Amino acid sequence: MSEIEVVPLELGTFQFADPELAGRKGVVVGYAVRHRDGVFLFDTGFGLGNAELDATYHPVSRPVREVLYDAGIDPQDVTAVANCHLHADHAGQNGALPGVPIHVQSAEWELAHTTDHTVLEWIDAPGADAYLLVDGDHEITASIRIIATPGHTRGHQSVAVTTATGTIVLAGQACYSAGEWEGDPDAIEGRGEAPEPDAYDASIQRLRDLMPIRVYFAHDRTVWKAPTDAKAAPAILREPC
Ligand SMILES: [Zn+2]
Ligand SMILES: [Zn+2]
Repeated sequence: MSEIEVVPLELGTFQFADPELAGRKGVVVGYAVRHRDGVFLFDTGFGLGNAELDATYHPVSRPVREVLYDAGIDPQDVTAVANCHLHADHAGQNGALPGVPIHVQSAEWELAHTTDHTVLEWIDAPGADAYLLVDGDHEITASIRIIATPGHTRGHQSVAVTTATGTIVLAGQACYSAGEWEGDPDAIEGRGEAPEPDAYDASIQRLRDLMPIRVYFAHDRTVWKAPTDAKAAPAILREPC
């Protein structure tokens, strides 16, 4: 059996709206997981062309299909999508892969459709026509599993990928950065900004309990690697910001 491969996809950048972080840039990273039977896509990035969002966050976003092509992945090969949550920076291009199932927690769906949670026309865009609502953990394939990780939002979810060398976690925004994963108390935008901090802590603990060899984040290019995996994959260097 061919080995599973996690491919980081840089979907865009934005500027923080918080005055304390003025001038700092954030990054949005999605992930493609190539497996034996296709490609699983975790997050679709910011959508394109929303005046209010542009004025607040100044996103520089790339079409997800183009990003996939650049990574050597034919969008036609994507067999399943999931969003870590439905905020506009993670689910903005859900319409880009018509007919492909998009796995979302029911609680997140409810938030998106009953509160001012996201850019709803991106969530319900033409082409975003195959939502699969799930409750809690859920298997995508035998080796790719959705893990419910509420905290940043009530319906947040992460992904655990089983490989021959150990478990890889795609945290999404369950943990903001590699620094926060390592326990940095001054990490920006993480637990301190979460509406449900106790749930946030419990979710990080759930991910830690998986004993991952690597952890990838939605807003940090840095890959956290367990000490024993230090030689398995080169770290992606953090850009100065
Ligand atoms: Zn969010
Ligand atoms: Zn985000």
